[in-house]
Amino acid sequence: MHTTTSGSFIPPSRPRESLGLAARGRRRFRKEQNSAARVNTNGLIFVVFNDSTGALSFFQENRLDKITGPINELQAREIMTDLALLNMHLKERPVYQSELDMVNETHKIVATLPDRPELQEWNYELRGRLLWNAFGRLVLFDNQLLASSNLGRHLLGLPHLGRNKAEGCAEVIRTQLPFLDVEARPGDVLGRFKFLEEFDLVTDATGEEALSLALNDFAVKRGPKFPPVVYSWVVGDGAAVQTMLCDSSDYACYKCSKPELSKEPRVRVLRNSAEMSLRRMGACGDGLYSPFPVSVSMAAASLALDVILGWGNGKPGARLRTRAIDLERSFAVKDTTLAPSAVCPACRGKMT
Ligand SMILES: [Zn+2]
Repeated sequence: MHTTTSGSFIPPSRPRESLGLAARGRRRFRKEQNSAARVNTNGLIFVVFNDSTGALSFFQENRLDKITGPINELQAREIMTDLALLNMHLKERPVYQSELDMVNETHKIVATLPDRPELQEWNYELRGRLLWNAFGRLVLFDNQLLASSNLGRHLLGLPHLGRNKAEGCAEVIRTQLPFLDVEARPGDVLGRFKFLEEFDLVTDATGEEALSLALNDFAVKRGPKFPPVVYSWVVGDGAAVQTMLCDSSDYACYKCSKPELSKEPRVRVLRNSAEMSLRRMGACGDGLYSPFPVSVSMAAASLALDVILGWGNGKPGARLRTRAIDLERSFAVKDTTLAPSAVCPACRGKMT
């Protein structure tokens, strides 16, 4: 093979920490953007394109020197997107040929290149699409319809009343982020846990303990095959909100946080005086609901977002986080990371 047939290859200029692409991300990227990438802890990016190093030449001249520190997984994906975009914008593509020498019995693959690689006019819309693809797709599960008791503390409002929440949310997200690949799955996620394995992260914001326990049980049994899970819930009628990241068998699983049903959770949030109440909005024919305001839902969502951003940036921090909303009913609990519980029925102290 002649050197002109090489793709784009970036050698490490200095050791970089925090490099590492999830296997799922690599697979998806290869499939969708005609590239192959390898990133390891020593700081090596290896990209192969059918461009005879054209994309790399541009990247080296304009971008590589600006990267002076460690890059995280999301930044690595952005770099790969730009390489893919450069490749797609090359004005003149290399022409590959086989040269057969029958006398010497040799076969050489060569490429005919322009003197200087040039780019077509930059398409920022395409860049947006590629970025969204690189960052994956979002699938929403919900088996509930938007009820009148949800109004005022849900992303969706009156126009979506009576509609499936996953479908409504997907519609709103597409309006705000038109290039995001978002899919609604109206129905129960129970029984669909295997499907979740193809994703990089699962967020359980149902607040339904039984569902969370079932999901945790499945995730623990599948071990490293299952992606990290972020659980987000409201404690005691909105007295506090909590988020837990379960991403490693080195730390507590969801069930480890309250391994024995009859006992208090390991991190106690509610004071003895706190009372739970469920109300019914009789006039609207709604079922029972917990009467907490939208500020509580927002606090729960914000806390979960903080944890997800930390995880995305390779700095997960404290895996169990608590925000007290009403200090008369809840304690001001410090963020912490729990070790696995020796009496946890789900993982028994060690995920396998
Ligand atoms: Zn456990």
